[in-house]
Amino acid sequence: MSRFDVIVIGGGHAGTEAALAAARVGARALLLTQNIETVGQMSCNPAIGGVGKGHLVREIDALGGCMAQAADQAGIQFRKLNASRGPAVRATRAQADRALYRAAVRKIAESEPNLRVFQAAATEIVVQNGRVRGVRAAPDLLFHAPAAALTAGTFLGGVIHIGKNARDGGRAGDSPAGPLSGQLREINPVAARLKTGTPPRLDGRTIDFAKTEPQPGDHPRPVFSFLGSADQHPPQVRCHIAETNPQAHDIVRAAMRESAMFAGSISGVGPRYCPSIEEKIRRFPDRPRHRIFLEPEGLECREYYPNGISTSLPYAVQEKLVRAIPGLEQAHITRPGYAIEYDFFDPRALSPALETRAVGGLFFAGQINGTTGYEEAAAQGLIAGLNAARFAQNRPPWTPSRDEAYAGVLIDDLVSRGVSEPYRMFTSRAESRLFLREDNADLRLTGRGRELGLVSDARWRAFCARRERLEREESRLDQIRAGDESAREFLRHPASRYADLAADGAALPLQDAADIAELEARVKYAGYIRRQRRADARLREEEARLIPADFDFALSGLSAEMREALERARPANLRQARRVLDPAALSILAAHLRKRTAAP
Ligand code: FAD
Repeated sequence: MSRFDVIVIGGGHAGTEAALAAARVGARALLLTQNIETVGQMSCNPAIGGVGKGHLVREIDALGGCMAQAADQAGIQFRKLNASRGPAVRATRAQADRALYRAAVRKIAESEPNLRVFQAAATEIVVQNGRVRGVRAAPDLLFHAPAAALTAGTFLGGVIHIGKNARDGGRAGDSPAGPLSGQLREINPVAARLKTGTPPRLDGRTIDFAKTEPQPGDHPRPVFSFLGSADQHPPQVRCHIAETNPQAHDIVRAAMRESAMFAGSISGVGPRYCPSIEEKIRRFPDRPRHRIFLEPEGLECREYYPNGISTSLPYAVQEKLVRAIPGLEQAHITRPGYAIEYDFFDPRALSPALETRAVGGLFFAGQINGTTGYEEAAAQGLIAGLNAARFAQNRPPWTPSRDEAYAGVLIDDLVSRGVSEPYRMFTSRAESRLFLREDNADLRLTGRGRELGLVSDARWRAFCARRERLEREESRLDQIRAGDESAREFLRHPASRYADLAADGAALPLQDAADIAELEARVKYAGYIRRQRRADARLREEEARLIPADFDFALSGLSAEMREALERARPANLRQARRVLDPAALSILAAHLRKRTAAP
């Protein structure tokens, strides 16, 4: 019982995918986690997906992972974000029932023949001669394995803050990782502290929904997994939109010095794209309102998650703030909001396989590598778990490349550029974003996943059928006519749709919305993708182009994050700039430099 090929520490989003991936490729895997009841627990908002993140979920699914399937079994509202924009940025988002999501992940984990789950806190990674030998766990247990994946989330050195009150914790209700943190600090230097926060939760019975704007899900309802269907979804519900107002902002402003984030008691850097309400009011002093999405926590409970007012203000101020918001005047808080500060490790100390350079067979994945978000954690988990298994099996590691998957972009960014603030995925981080679409994640990855042993027979059969359907229909486009052009030429026009081909009497064998979206995108974007690849090649040729020492980085089109990165690094040429910029920002900088050189 105590000998395994891979031990995964932590049953969060990275850990479950890691353990499942290792087991799927034939390793005897152990998932060691502090509390079995919290396997698959969403620490913060009950939602999966979104722009960039939904792309990762589909890639995890294409490689046989569990996140998309669990989201289909637990999703109580599904939306396609950016539906009217280009296919590169269209993304699926599911509001999830927290309890159903946990249950779905646990069921998938417990159905995996090669995987065992054990409830215990890991206390030490046993290392001999620079290699993993096993893991010790409380109270006095020893598990042997040549490889381990650490996915302890926000639990390493975790401290929870509410106002001036601070206590040790991994998230509300859970203890921090304890002795393991000390040992890990010796193995891999801690890069810094990061912080994140969560809003107070509300009793839905005390919300006046008449004062809010209802937000229903989409029709037709999107589905997350390539193997999923809308029939799997539980009953669907609506979210609601409320807004803060100047009175609520005054309450926050008056109490700013009592906020843990601003009183100087937290040193960690917070997520730029998920700021607390304190941060939003400080950063945008002139904005009179901020939106709050009231998201149900589940079908069987009355709790709501007010997305948009994450805070570490004292509880009494949180109550005043909530009650100042139209619709929430009588709202009862069920749990206070809080901020959490935790250790993260410099991901530049990892190989692209996510293995630590210091200890052979030790892999790191998830929030401990400086990322934020369930999806970013899960994608790393899958790759770390796969590579831990391959290490134990004496096989070479595999990591997708940047032009193959967002998971490849994520890992390459982490291990080559490092992290100075919590990292979340955006489509702008990818050079090949027109190619890295949600709808073709299986076409990009499932074949490779099958070779690696990650993809089941059932998934493989479904994939082959889809691939063949799409190929057959794409080649048919050259044979049928739409007016005086071929169907392929017709579909290239931005406004033409596959369904329009019926006007000329063509039979339309594709019925599935994802198949149609994929076929349209392939045809419409083939030219753009070729041009984008040429532009990337040109950028590479220009890497030696010098950046003048007095160059002003306040460039139109450049985000504040990218400008700050340039000002910090002051790169001497484009090659150095590439290390701190995302691809979209690099193209903007290169274009400005070209213009400056060309100017008389
Ligand atoms: P986790 O999901 O935290 O899982 C870690 C697991 O490791 C847990 O199961 C834990 O029990 C286990 N564990 C820890 N130590 C040990 C040990 N010694 N032995 C055994 N098991 C151990 N992300 C966002 O994108 N937006 C947000 O607004 C946001 N807000 C957040 C607010 C809070 C308060 C918290 C806590 C997190 C927030 N996050 C947010 C982050 C999000 O929860 C994480 O990104 C995601 O859960 C990371 O997944 P993970 O698998 O790395 O870690």
